[in-house]
Amino acid sequence: MIVAIDGPAGAGKGTLAKALAERLGYPHMDTGALYRATAFAVLRAGNDPEDPVVAEAAARALDLTILDSVDLRSAEVGAAASKVAALPAVRAALLDLQRRFARRPPGAVLDGRDVGTVVVPDAEVKLFVTASARIRAHRRHKELLARGETSIYQRVLAEIEARDARDAGRADAPMRKADDAVEIDTSDLSPDQVLERALVAIDRART
Ligand code: C5P
Repeated sequence: MIVAIDGPAGAGKGTLAKALAERLGYPHMDTGALYRATAFAVLRAGNDPEDPVVAEAAARALDLTILDSVDLRSAEVGAAASKVAALPAVRAALLDLQRRFARRPPGAVLDGRDVGTVVVPDAEVKLFVTASARIRAHRRHKELLARGETSIYQRVLAEIEARDARDAGRADAPMRKADDAVEIDTSDLSPDQVLERALVAIDRART
């Protein structure tokens, strides 16, 4: 069984994906990390994340050990990730890796923006996890402060809105809810409540 979880930044996809993977005993792939790692490599080389030639080369040469060895969660890398992710050559370079991961038995949980629409459109379970931009910005702001970083709420909100617009507005594999996805709005839900709803959707898909 493949569980595809999509949705915007900060909606709680990652938390849900990890909890589901543990519950089901499946491996989990955070597909955003592939775009972040590509962006990180481009930035580290001093290149422009909107340059299709260098970004594609970085995606094709992606060193997966970077996923565990560097902090890819900064706002700078997130913004650059959504720029490299808008380039069709970069998406094509990362597609096979995601599909192979998804198809390995006994199953997998993948989260991202286009998992249920493009990567594995035939996934048995599709979830679209959302929350209002203000709630997502609040969560992100609190997380940054807890990590001891400086954060200005209005700036975090503006960054989230800019990233949403880029991710939903791009021509290739835009972020959108698949027609057959179950939507979970996490604005007023705890992580446990989100997990419960996802488990209900999985039970339904299995019967
Ligand atoms: O989920 P995360 O915030 O780590 O993703 C970083 C960026 O990678 C997103 O803003 C999006 O542009 C891109 N992405 C994507 N397709 C995916 C996962 C992430 O385009 N499946």
